[in-house]
Formats: sequence, C-alpha cells, structure tokens
Amino acid sequence: MAVNQGECPGCGAPIQFGIGSSIAKVCEFCGSTVVRRDHGLQDLGKVARIANTPSLIAVGDEGTLGGRPFKVMGRVQLDHGQGPWDEYYVAFDYGQAWGWLAYAQGHWYVTQPYPGIAIPPYHMLRLESDVVLGQASYRVTEIKTGTVVSAEGELPGVLRPQSQRYYADLYAPQNGFATLDYGENTGSYEVFVGYIFDEPQMLVTQLGPRSINKIKTDMIRCPNCGGDVPKLSGDRALRLGCPYCGTVSDIATQQIVAQQEAAMKMPDIPIGSHGTFEGVPYICIAYLRRGADFDGDYFSWEEYLIWSQGIGYRWLVKDPESGWSWAMPVNLADLDLASMPSEVRWGGRSFRVRNRNSARVDYVLGEVYWKCEVGETTQTMDFVDGKDVLSREESSGEVKWSYSTPVAWPVIAQAFALPVDGPGGQLAAATSGSGSSSGSSTAWVLIVLVVVLIFCAIGALDSDEDDGSSAGGTYRGGGGIIFVGGK
Ligand SMILES: [Zn+2]
Ligand SMILES: [Zn+2]
Repeated sequence: MAVNQGECPGCGAPIQFGIGSSIAKVCEFCGSTVVRRDHGLQDLGKVARIANTPSLIAVGDEGTLGGRPFKVMGRVQLDHGQGPWDEYYVAFDYGQAWGWLAYAQGHWYVTQPYPGIAIPPYHMLRLESDVVLGQASYRVTEIKTGTVVSAEGELPGVLRPQSQRYYADLYAPQNGFATLDYGENTGSYEVFVGYIFDEPQMLVTQLGPRSINKIKTDMIRCPNCGGDVPKLSGDRALRLGCPYCGTVSDIATQQIVAQQEAAMKMPDIPIGSHGTFEGVPYICIAYLRRGADFDGDYFSWEEYLIWSQGIGYRWLVKDPESGWSWAMPVNLADLDLASMPSEVRWGGRSFRVRNRNSARVDYVLGEVYWKCEVGETTQTMDFVDGKDVLSREESSGEVKWSYSTPVAWPVIAQAFALPVDGPGGQLAAATSGSGSSSGSSTAWVLIVLVVVLIFCAIGALDSDEDDGSSAGGTYRGGGGIIFVGGK
C-alpha cells in the first residue's frame, strides 16, 4: 500500500494525497513531481511553471456535472508546439471514482477510465476509422502527440515532465467521446470513455486559486501594442487578432504569432455585435478571411465566428458568389462514409462530392478558440445536396465536419440589428479582396477608430455587469456558486 502522506523529497514541505487514485502530486512549494511508492515518496524532478492559460475551472474547484458531484484534483498542461492546453483530473462522488475534464473548441469533454479493453496500436489508427469499445463504435477524429509541459496538484499517473504523449480522440453518436491514451507509446495504453457536454450541464463553485492575474481579467492584452481588448467569450479563446495593430498572438503565452494589417476592411458584422438566431443569443467574436485556388484563380471568402455560451460556436460565411450561409459542426460519428470519397450520407440525405481543395487562413481579427495561424492550411472537401453543403476539413492529424445552409443577408441584418442595405448585402464587394485595398490612409484611420470605439463601448458595458472575470457575464462573485453555463 503506497503511502498517503509524507515530506517532499525536494523541499521537505508536507505532501498529502486527497484520493486513492492519485499516484503523483506536484509540490506546491518547490514544483517537484512527487510519486508515492510503497516505501515512501520519490522525486521525479521539477515541472516548469504552469502557463497562464485561460481557464474556466481551477484545481480546488468543486461542482456537479449532470448532478454528480466532482472536485478538481489536478491539472496537466500539454503542448503540440503551438501553445499549451489543459486537462483536469477530477474526483467524482467524493473520491469513489475519477476522470478527466477538458474544454476544447467550444465543448466540454468528460471521460473516465475503461480498463481491460483491447485497442489497435497507435500506428494502425487512421482518421475516420472505427474502433469498437465495449458496446459502442467510436470514430477517430484526432491522432496526435503532445508534450507534458507542466502540471499542478494531484495526478492519476506518472507523467514525466517533457515526455511525449501519444493519443487519439474519438466520437460516437449521441455525444459519445473517447480518448485512447498510448502514454509514451511504449506498448501500454489506457482507454477513457465519456461524453461531450454543453456548459449548462455543469455547476461550479470557484474555490481554487486562479492562475490568471485577477487584474483586468475581462481584457486580453495584446503583447505587441499593449492594447487591452475586451474578452468576448470569457476565458475560452486561445488566439487573438488585435483590432488595434493586427498582431496575432497566443493568449496563454503572450507570444506573437503573426503580424498583419490592423484592418483589411470593416467586417460586415462588427466584432462584438450581439445577435439572436432562433431565440439563441450570439456574439460575433472573430472575423476571418480564407481562400483557396480554384483552377488557378485565387478565390477568397469571409467567415464570422459567432459564439453562444449554451451551445458553443457557429459560423456565418460570406461567399462572394453564393452569398451567406450558416454553418454548424457535425459529429463525424453520425455520418455514413461507406461511399467516400464520392458521396456521404447524413440525416437520411445524400451529399455528392463537389470539390477538394486546400484552404488557407489569410487574415484573422478578434478571438478564436483554436491555435490559429495566419497562412495555416486545411485540406477541404465539399459535398452538396442542393444548396446545402457538408464540408470535411483535415489538418495535422485532425478531421472535422460541418454543415452549412444558405441564410439571407436580411435575416442576419435583422438578427444583429445591422442595416439591410449595408455592405453585408453587397456580394460583389467581397470578390475584389486585397486588390481593392487602395483606400486612402484617412479611411484606414477612420476604420480603426470605429473599431476602437466599438471595443471601448463593449468594455464599458461588460465592466458594469460582472466582477471582471468574464466578458460573458458568466461568473458572478468569487467563491460563490456559479453556473458555468449561465441559465
Ligand atoms: Zn517540495
Ligand atoms: Zn495590438
């Protein structure tokens, strides 16, 4: 029986383990990773300081998920080389069970260990291949590696600092989710099974200390110009395209990722605009311009990222030829891919392949939920049924599907209280792209000024309605019970 407490081999401070499933703990005083053995505590070496990732939950927080009590015991910080992300080790049912909790790309993921099940070796996995785990079939959406960069609190395993972790994420119908954790890919593995959930299912009491500096937490500071940009989606964004200077930066590390012009053009839907679609309130949080080569001609389009706390992210896409469309993510486990690559069936409908391409991000303004890079490319395939499109996007070991359907500009204009005869209704204007950017410098100054004023106005509104920890007004008071998901 491994010891339950002792002195840190690194500094002598007392170390105590809270739950039986914890194998290691990061000493809060000296940062040593301390592993408990039968004969005592062993020092595995110091971890790096934890990066100030935007975090919605913290070690020490307690809450309920679908009514089930949990406590956040520890956190592991990993990195693909593009900036860190967090996985939270949680105790369920007052220590009777444990699992992992993570937030990524607008969704929450919870998993628990599923021991005694055989899985294919890492090198046999392919994107969109199916893996049977117990009664259910799961489909691979991501195959990646990540480096353990830091950790805090207790951990359910021995995670060596700077070790490379191999893993795959899979989806199943009805929000099923699984992670195949191959550890350091030396033959052993662990399987974790769970589900994806929306924020309103979770209730959190903020008890743990926040790693983010409490001062001005309703702002994201641009590391290039020092400008404070109001947070529009709380602590959920990973990258910022600064509206003042155009610099793209990583929010956690404050590293500059790319330099671009401050404002290519005024977005048709200004960043920070609030709108309501089918009764759901959204806020426009980012504007992207993307493009692709079609038969030798470069074709570009615009994408607006809109976010709602209850349901996550949606897109409004402005195509210079076909107009506006509304796009939403699709669970790839719900697709019938038997006739790929010529046809995909979904929801009783058949979508025929239209084109394959390589799409590039040319410009980004506002806050985005992934490690966005200007110039990043994804391999795209579009499948059509009438005017509706199923799109497949693949990049660096990850595949995502989305569905888009046309929406008329007047509908968008009405939702966001924008003029119906405004620039959003003019499709021709979007085709000219950078070729038309011959406007005078006075015009640019005015555009930037307008953007600045909009952001200032949003900032003023937000500071009135919450305690400064989230622009979404999500968190009310420190320490009290809060709905992470609002109502
Ligand atoms: Zn210590
Ligand atoms: Zn800036």
